[in-house]
Amino acid sequence: MSTLTAFSIEVRGIVQGVGFRPFVHRLVERYGFTGWVRNTSDGAQLELCGSRESLLRFIEEIKTSSPPLALIERVDWREIGPRQYGGFEIIPSAPGAHMRTLVSPDVGICADCRRELLDSSDRRYRYPFINCTNCGPRFTIMRSVPYDRASTSMAAFPMCADCAREFGDIRDRRYHAQPDCCPKCGPRCFYLGPDGREIPGDAVELARGALKAGGIVCVKGLGGMHLACLPEEGIVRELRRRKRRDARPFAVMCRDTACARRLCRVSDGEAAALEGAAKPIVLLEKRERGALTHLSENNYIGVMLPYTPLHVLLMGGDIDCLVMTSANISETPIISSNGEALAALRGIADGFLLHNREIVTKCDDSLLRLYAGRTYPLRRSRGFVPYPVAVPLRRTLLACGAEQKASFCFGKPGHAFPSQHMGDLKNAETLANWEAQIDHFAALFDAEPEALACDMHPDYLSTAYAEERAGREGLPLLKVQHHHAHMAACMADNGLEGECLGLIWDGTGYGPDGSIWGGEVLAGGYKGFERAGSTRPVSLAGGDAAIDEPWRAGAALLLDSGLEPAPFAGEAGYETVLRMLERGVNCVKSSGMGRLFDGVAAMLGLCRRADYEGQGAILLEAAADTSETRSLSFGFEDLHGVPALDWRPAVREIAASGEDTGTLAARFMNMLIDAACAQLERASRETGLRRVVLSGGVFQNMYLMERLPRRLERLGLRPYWHGRVSCNDEGLSLGQLMVLEANYDVLGDTAENS
Ligand code: ZN
Ligand code: ZN
Ligand code: FE
Repeated sequence: MSTLTAFSIEVRGIVQGVGFRPFVHRLVERYGFTGWVRNTSDGAQLELCGSRESLLRFIEEIKTSSPPLALIERVDWREIGPRQYGGFEIIPSAPGAHMRTLVSPDVGICADCRRELLDSSDRRYRYPFINCTNCGPRFTIMRSVPYDRASTSMAAFPMCADCAREFGDIRDRRYHAQPDCCPKCGPRCFYLGPDGREIPGDAVELARGALKAGGIVCVKGLGGMHLACLPEEGIVRELRRRKRRDARPFAVMCRDTACARRLCRVSDGEAAALEGAAKPIVLLEKRERGALTHLSENNYIGVMLPYTPLHVLLMGGDIDCLVMTSANISETPIISSNGEALAALRGIADGFLLHNREIVTKCDDSLLRLYAGRTYPLRRSRGFVPYPVAVPLRRTLLACGAEQKASFCFGKPGHAFPSQHMGDLKNAETLANWEAQIDHFAALFDAEPEALACDMHPDYLSTAYAEERAGREGLPLLKVQHHHAHMAACMADNGLEGECLGLIWDGTGYGPDGSIWGGEVLAGGYKGFERAGSTRPVSLAGGDAAIDEPWRAGAALLLDSGLEPAPFAGEAGYETVLRMLERGVNCVKSSGMGRLFDGVAAMLGLCRRADYEGQGAILLEAAADTSETRSLSFGFEDLHGVPALDWRPAVREIAASGEDTGTLAARFMNMLIDAACAQLERASRETGLRRVVLSGGVFQNMYLMERLPRRLERLGLRPYWHGRVSCNDEGLSLGQLMVLEANYDVLGDTAENS
């Protein structure tokens, strides 16, 4: 018989509220160890007594077969010699000496809970707040760490004796499930009419009745409210009218994957993404091109599956698909409180399906698509946040992101914590929410930054925040060039070190020379970069006004190419814009690829005035004939010493061509691909670099993504794209963090040198 010894074992990672301790308990029982386990701010700590060999095997098992939601990062152990324990017990959490616990995101309802929810003999039959150790709300109900009921909005609901028994029973699947509750002790749902008065009866059935009658119902979800309605054309038109939401695509919730397949093509990978624990909105290709235009005017529909028990109940029986759009008014953050919903949605919602569990943190639905078998995030939010991204950081840092698709990112040794999607900081409520979330993350992750990073743009509100805070706290601040941050984000996303090339195409970013960049080829690494290529700037008459009115970019393209902008003569303000362009007054020059897309979309008659950001580019992609292989002519010219794509030959060909819109849209993008290949091949020859990261909002365009990486590979280059954070400005804070870390030792100047 081998002699007994004891180990002190330290497990780091996400192990709280994910069924880790019951898993440990079962394992300990199997091995026959004695000792204890407790939560710490880093994860969990155990002391176990047993034979040395079995303790080592136990540690291996922890690493390899822990529960699905646990994220084990490291297991450290040391032998502490023989000890005496009375048995095995779970002891109270260690006080948070230095909080580094990773926090679990919200998790969509699991199969076991779904079964109980629909089982008429279960005590939680049709109870909309059923959850267990493997599923339910987490991040959105947490006020502080360590994660236990008292620090969540479930603190308002003391457990009944039945729930307390489950909670305390290590063999129960609700063991230590902090939000565990039942109809006796937990939150309740209620239904309110349009005037905000509660209507007695079964809340879910009342809401279903309103929906089936063609009504628009506000439904409280995990991270905020939705407006829901049947996906019928007339009802959706009414929703758009009431929400003043023009042409922007609406997402739908389908009862299950089979129902999603009736609208869209769903690959195995896409089905897995839909059904996974995060339950994001997945962009799926419509079954029929040009169908369901009342939901989205492009070739894709955002689809999600029911992720709360309330959704499951709402979609039972004869409702198999609902439009579900975030409930907010214009650019304000998603509505999350009952009072706010009743005040702001009066006259918009015909009814309110609410409940009395408070949403602590606003968190929109995540949005992603599948690309090359991997997730391609477009909006990283509910279900993913606040999971960290593993990156080689050594310090505690804060990056403040951009402005329009605001985010922030905390860095701690080994991890970056990107925030949820937050919207446009120019909206005062969004800015207030963004600032409050910075404080919330700082508290959750015990992150007191040693230095700050922000964008170089002098007018971004995130820049103003960073400047003010750096001054107040005496912290070093680095202003990172926008496209360098995109590049660094994509490098970090792919775990790249050293130097590489970046093809960074987006709408707008502030260049170190004070001009607007956005069609860039960069060479460099986290530490710094050089501009290796760009795009001939487009004159934007009236500056930002030209972003809302793509026809202004169209007129500029024509004029700059020596053509008459006559096709736009009917537009309001035409004469003024023409004068501005001809005299160069009140014009901003932008090399942003997004503006080139705008101009061409306007020329093709696809979008003269934009209802939402990027509409021109989205419609151009949607219109393109995917079988077209021909391209348009282009050239290169010198722009501040770097070769810039001269698109004027292409503009002349489009203007003179009698081909249809779909053909020309495809040829325009084929031209961009040709030009990118030429620019990158040249930059590669000059620098010897062969890796190319693709970032910037333009790479949400799947026409480009389906062709460009393959072409680059044929040239012997190695393309990389995003997989963990978004290619648009929301993902850029991760890049700022990496640039800050790389330059930490030489901080002094506030702006990086390029
Ligand atoms: Zn569950
Ligand atoms: Zn209960
Ligand atoms: Fe950008």
